[in-house]
Amino acid sequence: MRALRIPAPGTLHLAEVPEPVAGPGEEIYRPHLVGLCGTDLDLIDGLVDPAFVRYPLTLGHEWVGRDSAGRTVVTEGLIPCGSCVRCEEGRENLCATYAELGFTRDGAAAATLAVPRHLAHEIAAGVDPTAAVIAEPASVVYRALERAIPTPGARILIIGDGTIGLLAAALARVWEPERVDLRGLRTEQATLAEHAGVDRFLTRRAAKGYDLVVEASGSPAGVAAALAATRRGGTLALLGYLGRDVRFPLDVDALINADLTVLGSFASTSASWRSVVELINAGTLDAGWLVTHRFALTDYVAAVDALRHPHGARGKIVLELPQN
Ligand SMILES: [Zn+2]
Ligand SMILES: [Zn+2]
Repeated sequence: MRALRIPAPGTLHLAEVPEPVAGPGEEIYRPHLVGLCGTDLDLIDGLVDPAFVRYPLTLGHEWVGRDSAGRTVVTEGLIPCGSCVRCEEGRENLCATYAELGFTRDGAAAATLAVPRHLAHEIAAGVDPTAAVIAEPASVVYRALERAIPTPGARILIIGDGTIGLLAAALARVWEPERVDLRGLRTEQATLAEHAGVDRFLTRRAAKGYDLVVEASGSPAGVAAALAATRRGGTLALLGYLGRDVRFPLDVDALINADLTVLGSFASTSASWRSVVELINAGTLDAGWLVTHRFALTDYVAAVDALRHPHGARGKIVLELPQN
């Protein structure tokens, strides 16, 4: 079968590889749409922490496809052991054994892939697969919001106008905030921000005094803006990776004086997947609007280029695999 492979950092190509064989408890799935994100670029460029990647690998940790019975499904990307202390706490993202599709195991940018069956979530009939392909990033965002526990009536600011920021704005509504503002860099993202339901889309310095700020831009400037925008006693949730060798100087005294809660949120949990799939199946999270670019798998060079060099409104970029 054909698969989009990274044999080693710096190279990406379509290769002919053997079909995967299902291990115990696994099923073979047939991907339909595969989302690409900034982390895929980092994987291609070799910028992901080596503890979280194993080359060579097949790209693709965001996807929707079919199971052997023809049902539309998404599967969790993390493959937890299920028996360590963290797994038993329901924090599969902190499992003692890290394994993830598209990072340490072959991902979904291929005709088929093998995943433990218990990680699959069925997408309701009638839901457009385009609205389900964002399940993975949405679960990552949902888990961060769950950790931050916005109180009803909270004033929330999202920093970053990429897909994580836009999904954070859309999902924050679940917690019934007073307002959700989004601070981005590119005015071209205004229409997408509107789809995400933001109250105000800002491209310059945001007002201060937010109860919760979600940093999803993955830039030192974004982190600085996030710290400045969080009110005393507020919460700052960090979701955007700065990159392996980038450091940010912390003004510890200011953090203490501001009585600030700063949290990082890594990946997703089974619980966040269940919540997100429920929202997708109920139509509450209908984020098909987020998919702005579709490419055939064979056009992966153009897809990666669109990911690397955004122009115009740019949401989720997906690769489409032939269905038969
Ligand atoms: Zn991703
Ligand atoms: Zn575990």
